[in-house]
Amino acid sequence: MAKTMAVNAGSSSLKFQLLEMPAEQVIAQGVIERIGMDDAIVTIKYGAEIHSERLVGHSEDDEHITLSKDGKGKKYENVTAIKNHQQAINYMLQKLTDLGIIEDFDEITGVGHRVVAGGEWFNHSVIVTDEVLAKIDRLADYAPLHNPANAMGIRAFQKLLPDALSVAVFDTSFHQTMPDENFLYALPYEYYTRYGARKYGAHGTSHRYVASRAAEILHKDLKQLKLITLHLGAGASITAIKDGKSLDTSMGFSPLAGVAMATRSGDVDPSLLYYIQEREGLSNEEMLNILNKKSGLLGISTISSDMRDLLEVQDTNEHANMAIRIFINRVIKYVGQYIAEMGGVDAIVFTAGIGENSIPIRKMIIDKLNYFGVVLDEEKNNVRGQEVEISTENSKIKALLIPTNEELMIARDVESLKA
Ligand code: AMP
Repeated sequence: MAKTMAVNAGSSSLKFQLLEMPAEQVIAQGVIERIGMDDAIVTIKYGAEIHSERLVGHSEDDEHITLSKDGKGKKYENVTAIKNHQQAINYMLQKLTDLGIIEDFDEITGVGHRVVAGGEWFNHSVIVTDEVLAKIDRLADYAPLHNPANAMGIRAFQKLLPDALSVAVFDTSFHQTMPDENFLYALPYEYYTRYGARKYGAHGTSHRYVASRAAEILHKDLKQLKLITLHLGAGASITAIKDGKSLDTSMGFSPLAGVAMATRSGDVDPSLLYYIQEREGLSNEEMLNILNKKSGLLGISTISSDMRDLLEVQDTNEHANMAIRIFINRVIKYVGQYIAEMGGVDAIVFTAGIGENSIPIRKMIIDKLNYFGVVLDEEKNNVRGQEVEISTENSKIKALLIPTNEELMIARDVESLKA
């Protein structure tokens, strides 16, 4: 059966998932970290239960394979020198062959690449041509850390798998349906025409995936639904989806805007930044770094960017408690705003690390929305990482927990462009 690879190439890492399509079965997944170093780390999970974390057996060697308890799931790990993305991909494909996951490179007939910025050029996934690749390069202005790495991944795969269909799947494309009153900032219009200064949003593939699953779970046509999707992970964004299209989203020109996140500030009055910069003697780069890396949950709590740590000490640590309250408060504000923008909502969907796993955070958010007619079923909410309706049967607005699956969405896009 044809296999499709979903790829997420970062500046020094490469994540992948190999799926059998159209069966949508994951046969391997892995990551290569620290590309460019002598001690790059390669991890490949495969076998029947690749999601199983219950791996036993241990080896002191750098290169080793561990087995899950039932012996069906396997994890290959190695620490080795990997110079660049080309070498990383070569190594990974060779290992997939050595481990018997594929017999031949030719079995991989499609490769879908996550690309962070698609600007206004891409409102859906596309087959990569020279022109597409040139545009991805030019869009590096909007995502300087990500687009160059994404393009590097595309080029490296094209060299090694020249016959596989190469597809670019953009984080921003789902949000290209936003109307101008939502994507424009109230700045002099010429900045939009001159520099493309507008809201692009992010996490589009995740919002698109959970919205389509929500429609299936609710047995409704997506085009008839008003949804608010809450992607709450280390990066967090909230999207209003009406008629199956993104109407508005909380991230902005960059993924720094919107709700408070693990280390990102979310929305801030821009004049405050100038005020702080002047007093602290901070350069623009330093200020941006503080907003991206030292703010959010970490900035307020002063102890951790991880929601689990904060929840653990929320009763005794005032700052952890404050960070949680701020997080909930920002989420609620966006949900309320989007209910008003859409003139109602049929379902609210929780996804990503915090949304999928944090029982108390989901409860805190839904309890604050009781007024609108959403009621939590505490027993149903008592789960992690499963698809489940967590509102009561009589709840006017449904609340759903749907684990995100961006890789599957990427593989589906590849499949649909193969035809
Ligand atoms: P993601 O970016 O989607 O991988 O989400 C990562 C974030 O999920 C981490 O920063 C954690 O704070 C959060 N997370 C994971 N599991 C839990 C949990 N059980 N409770 C609260 N937060 C969690």
